[in-house]
Amino acid sequence: MASPTRETPSKARAPRARQRRGEGQWALGYREPLNPNERSKKDDHPLNVRARIENIYAHRGFDAIDPGDLRGRFRWFGLYTQRKPGIDGGRTATLEPEELDDRYFMLRVRLDGGVLSTEQLAVLGEISQTHARDTADITDRQNIQYHWIQIEDVPAIWEKLEKAGMTTMEACGDSPRVILGSPVAGISADEIIDGTPAIEEIKRRYIGDPRYANLPRKFKTAVSGLPDVAHEIHDVAFVGVNHPEHGPGFDVWVGGGLSTNPMLGQRLGAWVPRDEVPDVWEGVISIFRDYGYRRLRSRARIKFLVKDWGAEKFRQVLEDEYLKRALIDGPAPEVPAVPIDHVGVHRQVDGRFYVGAAPIAGRVSGGTLLAVAKAAERAGSQRVRLTPQQKLVVLDVQEAELAGLRAELDELGLPSAPSPWRRNVMACTGLEFCKLAIVETKARAQQLVAELEKRLADLQGDLDTPVTVHLNGCPNSCARVQTADIGLKGQIVTDDHGNQVEGFQVHLGGGLGLDAGFGRKLRGHKVTADELTGYVERLVRAYLADREPGERFPQW
Ligand code: SF4
Repeated sequence: MASPTRETPSKARAPRARQRRGEGQWALGYREPLNPNERSKKDDHPLNVRARIENIYAHRGFDAIDPGDLRGRFRWFGLYTQRKPGIDGGRTATLEPEELDDRYFMLRVRLDGGVLSTEQLAVLGEISQTHARDTADITDRQNIQYHWIQIEDVPAIWEKLEKAGMTTMEACGDSPRVILGSPVAGISADEIIDGTPAIEEIKRRYIGDPRYANLPRKFKTAVSGLPDVAHEIHDVAFVGVNHPEHGPGFDVWVGGGLSTNPMLGQRLGAWVPRDEVPDVWEGVISIFRDYGYRRLRSRARIKFLVKDWGAEKFRQVLEDEYLKRALIDGPAPEVPAVPIDHVGVHRQVDGRFYVGAAPIAGRVSGGTLLAVAKAAERAGSQRVRLTPQQKLVVLDVQEAELAGLRAELDELGLPSAPSPWRRNVMACTGLEFCKLAIVETKARAQQLVAELEKRLADLQGDLDTPVTVHLNGCPNSCARVQTADIGLKGQIVTDDHGNQVEGFQVHLGGGLGLDAGFGRKLRGHKVTADELTGYVERLVRAYLADREPGERFPQW
């Protein structure tokens, strides 16, 4: 696959032409808003919306909400209206946003590094049962996402969350979103360095700071001493690496992202010690704020700036204009041959164990979260983590407690020795709640896993490398369609009888780590939702029939 950073001469001319018209870059003097989103942020800082929610909307109800807040600023506090039930995916593009709006909200709780105490997990479960009709999804960004939230309940939810040390602030919006971190930070024998102190310091200094909360677009960060957080597809990522002279620290990547113009992040070639990660993070987000493109939302992510500048210029600007010092050159981190997901039972550095358990595509419930908190505590644990693969890990378990905990997790539908399908299927929110969705995903993932477990039971012993299947409800790629072995992008397709039905465009052979690259969209590889299981079964059987032992699912 061609490098996403290499430009043809004709492509290289395009950005200059656009820049003559102005891309809305603040650092070049363009301060007048060039689109409605920029106008909204300029008219009133999005962080100001919290006071209106608490003082006005929660008392007067849904109909009192200003449309600019409802469809814009609410996101800075993790709130989106959910999809009105009963509108099929074929109508998504034909309706105005307000026609798709339900009177209920999705609410996202940011859990940086996926870090939870069992007490916090229990609080999340109680909130779900009291305010969210028992819904709770573990997202692939280590968040918990609720549905069916009413505006009247939001202040009470915030109070409960904040009392327990959690927040929804900047969980969405053009802001620094949740920071991904290794679920096993500080306890993994393979970790180069624990990124937790750097994540905590970034949160402490910058999250909720208005100076970094009006960005051209969302800003995704990962900090991990292990390559277990999909660092290649982040706006900025710090990945553990050993420097031959300076020791353990972090390698800096910028400009990764998926959606409709997927790009892999680029290394700056710089090594950063842990206590300088927050400063470098501030420099990178400041470049994005100041030089990021604010004309077109579709070109506003930092990846477009990095693509136009290149890593060398980006590093130069970071050093000269923001850090006022040179960074230390450093080596690239090692990459894993297969994705690390922490499912199963693993020994910690202190001799205890962690247990990674697999819901299907992150779907749990408030009751399940409460039960996991109790089961973990019965096993002597007070710490739980969420993973970027929509899984859940219980830390600090003594060997004698393992069997009991695993049995309890099994009963809760969270096996720690799951089938390869349960383990490797991910799905985004989809048609059930997402206003942009074209097809159903979560329920379909449940069905797909159950059917593949039956149909491919004879082959499970042969699957010594994972085959990942990611279902996405639309081209936005929230469940990382391009980085799966079998990536499924929801769209309306034509079935054998000429009917327009839910289905998927197939992308094959994507992956991160050793063979990082995007799956190829294969012309003609479209499958109706009803045919999906048979299609995946045929693909997997064909792959296993041809492969050498240990050979990964092929890139196409
Ligand atoms: Fe919604 Fe599309 Fe993202 Fe799925 S990929 S959650 S359907 S925006």
